[in-house]
Amino acid sequence: MREPILLTPGPLTTTLRTKMAMLTDWGSWDTSFNTLTASVCADLVEIAHAGDTHVCVPVQGSGTFAVEAAIGNLVPRDGKLLVLVNGAYGKRMAQLTRVLGRAVAVYETADNVPPDPAEIAAVLAADPAITHVGAIHCETSTGILNPLAAIAAVVAQAGRRLIIDAMSSFGALDIDARTLPFDALISSSNKCLEGVPGMGFVIVNRDVLLASAGNSHSLAMDLPDQYLYMQKTGQWRFTPPTHVVAAFRAALDQYHEEGGQPARLARYSANGAALVAGMQSLGLSLFLPAPLQAPIIYTFLAPDHPDYDFRRFYEAVRERGFVLYPGKLTEVNTFRVGCIGAIDAAEIKQAIAAVADALDQLGWTR
Ligand SMILES: *Cc1c(COP(=O)(O)O)cnc(C)c1O
Repeated sequence: MREPILLTPGPLTTTLRTKMAMLTDWGSWDTSFNTLTASVCADLVEIAHAGDTHVCVPVQGSGTFAVEAAIGNLVPRDGKLLVLVNGAYGKRMAQLTRVLGRAVAVYETADNVPPDPAEIAAVLAADPAITHVGAIHCETSTGILNPLAAIAAVVAQAGRRLIIDAMSSFGALDIDARTLPFDALISSSNKCLEGVPGMGFVIVNRDVLLASAGNSHSLAMDLPDQYLYMQKTGQWRFTPPTHVVAAFRAALDQYHEEGGQPARLARYSANGAALVAGMQSLGLSLFLPAPLQAPIIYTFLAPDHPDYDFRRFYEAVRERGFVLYPGKLTEVNTFRVGCIGAIDAAEIKQAIAAVADALDQLGWTR
């Protein structure tokens, strides 16, 4: 039996080599494990071209844990975060900031509309209490690509600080700290870098990180403390996700061998193009206009049939070896298909054949 291919935004399909890296038990005190952690962090900073200014602080847990840690440490208790919302992850960032007891403002656009930099500038000018701006790079709930460079420019122009949720873009889309001003960028092991889930990380300006000491609402999520302890001892403060870090090391080795960010973007773009062409040939159309779409995860309008039910569609495609993802929109009936992970256009073509076959079997073919 072949394992199903995950056409999801993470956890995603990983290579055998990445999975095999998890067959060793590592001692958290052991120098070999500490070297592994340090090398993973050094690579992550390098992928952002941030070695002169920023450091990487790893956080145990899923991506949201790292977002919560970044905001809880970098936005001071009397600070205020403006969140740019056009989907579920922007909403989540605003919600977790409220839970942390920080003041929040929201600038919201529709799911298919990127934020307008001129409007961001106006919101910032009108509210001097806003100290930080939180932006989602690729809003995974639709796959829309937000204009990060333009956002970073207006935030810097207004003298505010930028925190980027680059969870589903980092490693595939170019983010260069030498030209893009940001305080912190958050991502995780299990998206475009193709590791397994269990580790988030924050690439944060070192001076900003050190100046944030004492802000944290939480002991476990205290980023400067995690950083300083790791600098001093080489170790994580609390039990590290050892197997996840080892798999991440293997995934990063393969990332470099493939050709790094440009190669990853090229493969995902080819996957995305094959996916869109194939789905369109089956009469399924994209929710977003193509220019707004990042080559990460695609939202399609549900098959136009009165009996359509995502669960049944999912099961029929799953039986054929592929895992789809539900839609996340309230107004329109959609489903999502990821094109990230250790897959290429061959798997995408097989997936299209599986979807075609499933639609036939369900009688939903147009
Ligand atoms: C995956 C993701 C997250 C984190 O979600 P987790 O379920 O905690 O891993 C945050 N933001 C974006 C944009 C994401 O795609």
